[in-house]
Amino acid sequence: MTRTDDLKPERLALATRAIHGRRLHPRQGPVAPAIVQSSTYRLADSGAALRYAQGDPDVYVYSRYHNPTVDEAQERLALLADAEAALFLSSGMAAISSAVLSVAAAGDEIISTPALYGGTYRWFRDMLPALGITVRYVTPSALDNIEALVTPRTRLLYAETPTNPTLDVIDLAAFVEAGRRASVRAGRHVLTMVDNTFATLLNQNPLRAGADVMVESATKYLGGHSDLVGGVVTGTRSFVDGVHRQMKYLGGCADPFAAYLLLRSLGTFELRVARQNDNALALARFLEAHRNVVRVLYPGLPSHPAHALAARQMSPGFGGMVTAEVRGGAAGAVRVVDALRVAVNAMSLGGVETLVSIPVYSSHVNMSPEELRRHGVTPGMIRISCGVEGIDDLRGDFDRALSLLDGAAGA
Ligand SMILES: *Cc1c(COP(=O)(O)O)cnc(C)c1O
Repeated sequence: MTRTDDLKPERLALATRAIHGRRLHPRQGPVAPAIVQSSTYRLADSGAALRYAQGDPDVYVYSRYHNPTVDEAQERLALLADAEAALFLSSGMAAISSAVLSVAAAGDEIISTPALYGGTYRWFRDMLPALGITVRYVTPSALDNIEALVTPRTRLLYAETPTNPTLDVIDLAAFVEAGRRASVRAGRHVLTMVDNTFATLLNQNPLRAGADVMVESATKYLGGHSDLVGGVVTGTRSFVDGVHRQMKYLGGCADPFAAYLLLRSLGTFELRVARQNDNALALARFLEAHRNVVRVLYPGLPSHPAHALAARQMSPGFGGMVTAEVRGGAAGAVRVVDALRVAVNAMSLGGVETLVSIPVYSSHVNMSPEELRRHGVTPGMIRISCGVEGIDDLRGDFDRALSLLDGAAGA
């Protein structure tokens, strides 16, 4: 028999860690986490403020800096990611902006893969130049030649995989190796950072692949119920401390209630994502065989160009995101989406309910035909975030909606 004193949370299954965190010892108290809905804290004595300033983790002074509910969420997230530390922030964009600005200042350079979440892409394009930070793009197939883009001012190598909405897969081993060679060329450590939102840390852990930093929008799979907005940064203690310093000034601290919702969501994280993986694979197979579907993009399908790489890099599943191109272009996509009754027409992803959106109407709206071509986006595409509904109901919903395209023109 194992004595509980011998239990190491790090050795437990992800599902067990997600539910219990580090609370493995019998202790009086509530089972559910406490929501410490307070902006400020009574100090036991005037010396407490000084002890806080000296780094005493048991003293709380102000909730933009630290909050016990947020701390509990962070401890849980670090444990799940196998990271030294995690920071939970008010949104995915707060996580990304605070993390990037903790390493890059005026004169510095970032190298990124080009297929990025729209918010990140536009922030890089429209806001960073005003701060004197330059972003260069490297196509994933050119990572072998990263040296050509590196200068002594290169601070960060940034990537996102799988990408939105074409679900291309970037080779994390090649990305980490490019970071190593970039560091040699730059003469200092060039940080590697991966936005892991689409895969989520159950299916892919960039830190285990050797990346320095993983960011995720917790609004998506970690939250998983379309009812909270949050973001997480994981990495070494010293890196996360630097992001925390940045966050204190930028102000993107998480609310204790969002931290509570996240902790509540993590209890079913593995169940939800395992079901989303299964539903996505089953729906992708169904759609690929459908007469009114031109093409399905899902890393778990053998027809996907990066299937072999995805099979090496993603486990246990390929994620919950599927993109299908239907007959009839944008008009066909609109017809199908407007006829769905189980799947919900809404932005975002990762929730228990299946969500659909049309990229040329949402994430890639107002892009020129040339830009769309470069991003591999076509007008007939429907992006599907598979929920945890019964698979027969999802297949039936799509079958009914797609049958409206019988007789429509090809792609
Ligand atoms: C949604 C999303 C973000 C931004 O997260 P927010 O929580 O909306 O700020 C960043 N990256 C990816 C890949 C996303 O899907």
